[in-house]
Amino acid sequence: MSRVSRREFVKTTALAPLAAAPFSPNAQTHKDERYDMVVAGAGHNSLITAAYLAKAGYRCLVLEGRPIVGGGVKTAELTLRGFRDDVCSTSHAFLMDNPMMKNDELRLRDYGLEYIDPDPIFHVPFADGSYLTQWRDVDRTCAEFAKFSKKDADAYRKMLAEFDAIRPILFGASFTPIGFGKPLNDQLTQVPRGKLWQRRLAMSAWEIIRDAFENEHSRTFLLFMAHLAAEPPDAPMTGRLAFGAARQQHSGRPIPKGGSGMLTQALARFIEAHGGTLLTNKWVKRLIVENERCVGVECGDGSSYRAEKAVVSTIHIKHLVDLAPRELWGQDFIDGVNTWQPENPMFVTHYAMSEPPKFAVEGGTLSPIEAGILASPERALRFGYDDARGVVNLEDPPMQVITCTVADPTRAPAGMHTVKVVGWQPYELKEGPEHWDQIKKEVSDAYLQSLRRYAQNLTDDKILARFIESPLDLERMNPHFWHGSAHAGAQSASQVGAMRPMPGWAQHRMPIPGLYQTGATTHPGGSVTGGPGRNAAIVILKDFGTSIEEVVSKKT
Ligand SMILES: Cc1cc2nc3c(=O)[nH]c(=O)nc-3n(C[C@H](O)[C@H](O)[C@H](O)COP(=O)(O)OP(=O)(O)OC[C@H]3O[C@@H](n4cnc5c(N)ncnc54)[C@H](O)[C@@H]3O)c2cc1C
Repeated sequence: MSRVSRREFVKTTALAPLAAAPFSPNAQTHKDERYDMVVAGAGHNSLITAAYLAKAGYRCLVLEGRPIVGGGVKTAELTLRGFRDDVCSTSHAFLMDNPMMKNDELRLRDYGLEYIDPDPIFHVPFADGSYLTQWRDVDRTCAEFAKFSKKDADAYRKMLAEFDAIRPILFGASFTPIGFGKPLNDQLTQVPRGKLWQRRLAMSAWEIIRDAFENEHSRTFLLFMAHLAAEPPDAPMTGRLAFGAARQQHSGRPIPKGGSGMLTQALARFIEAHGGTLLTNKWVKRLIVENERCVGVECGDGSSYRAEKAVVSTIHIKHLVDLAPRELWGQDFIDGVNTWQPENPMFVTHYAMSEPPKFAVEGGTLSPIEAGILASPERALRFGYDDARGVVNLEDPPMQVITCTVADPTRAPAGMHTVKVVGWQPYELKEGPEHWDQIKKEVSDAYLQSLRRYAQNLTDDKILARFIESPLDLERMNPHFWHGSAHAGAQSASQVGAMRPMPGWAQHRMPIPGLYQTGATTHPGGSVTGGPGRNAAIVILKDFGTSIEEVVSKKT
């Protein structure tokens, strides 16, 4: 095994807060203060819900178990002082389609949120020395496809046009609570080529890519973009993922200046500015239920908080059901929880480096913010199989390499870089998930060795420190990443749309009156979309006699 680091951190129990003071919770809060809404967990979704509720004038209390708010949207010094690492997410591409951002509903810029639009958007180097780079400029990207096949360049252009035509319907459905608008399938029957899209959405991403593109490089590039959602690309109903590259050709892959966590910091500041309170180190351990209604929560430290109107949860459904007597949930709900499936988890190494990865391109090297390495389409088709076998597969391991400091030097000391290497490996090893603690260094080393074949400048002397997050560490750090699931659970055919979290309970209203669920276990699922957060706000505001439109139009 190679010598890797001068400094190594492999625990994830205590994340260092940023030196540049993050949002600090209001320490003056008293437990006998009165709240309308108590929000359990502070991921970006529940913060978005709380932000709209606070804007509506409700007294909101947000309780987060960790020392910093943000969940999967958080920035902290994981390696060395001055290196601001995105603990989980980096790209906020999906968030840009949320009306919250598109229509600037919360004016988060006033609370410190600013975006950088990377160009190139994504770079995929291949083992044979060739590469395909996605640029903001469509013609330039098509020229990249044309290097391999003129026909594929035309197919990509066609894909962009077709996706642009349907995107208002697809995103309209994502940012509408289940049952609040016409079901997607009904909408598709009423638009030109809608029937083709019904078929496409039911197909697998692999089928669509294989049929439309002839060259292995084009297919590999598109499959990498498809797998960013962590679903095996050959699974039925992953067809939408085939259009991942088309989606980001339109909106790019923006990153917040200063780190992913700037979004949740801005939301926290917004909530406080609207009279809300946020408390950290507060693990919610019990729901208070009186007269069959949820009226508050109790925390692990013995404190309890009452909600006069509602409790909003982003606690994973697998844990939520343990917080109140089983009989209160009803059998349908318990069945839904029992059958909930995890996803193909991530394996992450954060590095502090003195140089960014440099990929060979014509005339020199390229250091993009995001690069993806995937050996072949066949390698992508192994994802589902490897996950099912519970075996770590380090043969040409697919990986995402993220170097934000290339475009955002505020994240590291002058001339230095944060590099995040993300792979995908099973949570359930044959030896049990605890085995990750024994093997994670070795697995991380193998990813580095493999990356060096593509970025040969990453010699030991460029590496100042590293911090490893195995699938088990991800779950330890955030219980909402159940079994290492970065999106809280699989986004497979049985767990999307009206089936998320389970049939009958997709409208954010939980079986216990007064309790609402948001976050990645609800429609439209995981990633930094803010969809579950805003959708939950729509439902709650309606239940209390107002609407999101009314709240957004308020001049506060
Ligand atoms: C390594 C990694 C990289 C990723 N990269 C990207 C990316 O680039 N782009 C993207 O779009 N997505 C990415 N994702 C996915 C994305 O981060 C998540 O899907 C998203 O953050 C989920 O947001 P959420 O608001 O639903 O919940 P979470 O962010 O999971 O937040 C839930 C919060 O609730 C808290 N909590 C849970 N239980 C309790 C309790 N009992 N009491 C109190 N608090 C509790 C948790 O501590 C946490 O803060 C990535 C994920 C990982 C792991």
